[in-house]
Amino acid sequence: MRCPFCKEDRDRVVDSRSSDAGRIIRRRRQCLICKKRFTTYEKIGESFKLYVVKKDNSRIPYDRDKVVAGLQKACYKRPVSAAQVQQIADKVEESIFQKFDKEVSSAFIGESVMKHLGAVDNVAYIRFASVYRNFSDAGELIEEVSHVIAKTEPLEQLTLFNYKK
Ligand SMILES: [Zn+2]
Repeated sequence: MRCPFCKEDRDRVVDSRSSDAGRIIRRRRQCLICKKRFTTYEKIGESFKLYVVKKDNSRIPYDRDKVVAGLQKACYKRPVSAAQVQQIADKVEESIFQKFDKEVSSAFIGESVMKHLGAVDNVAYIRFASVYRNFSDAGELIEEVSHVIAKTEPLEQLTLFNYKK
């Protein structure tokens, strides 16, 4: 696999995972020449790169590590295990690969993360939503929070606003 950094074609596979019920294989690779790591996705024999289209229409390679990092930040000190974070990332990837092959909007990824994270932990959901949606005014955030509070334990309501970016 051609290295995206130095363009050499020698690498080793560091880690493999499948998603979309085994139809997609994600391989973490390390270039043997420059030692940098990159990720490829293979779908029934073919390999492809998925790009994320950001709000300003720029495109960057999809990176699972960024999804996981966002989840970890949202789940900081919450009762969500590392395995659960990986499972949420798997579900997000499944939802992406069911619909998109070459490009996916950052908005779709964000909404998918919120959907799957919300099913696991409400406080983490609010943290992620407040960062991701970058609420322009307090009213929007309060609306989102009250929506979630409706299905949250009373004790958790008290801790909702303790999170600082
Ligand atoms: Zn390289």
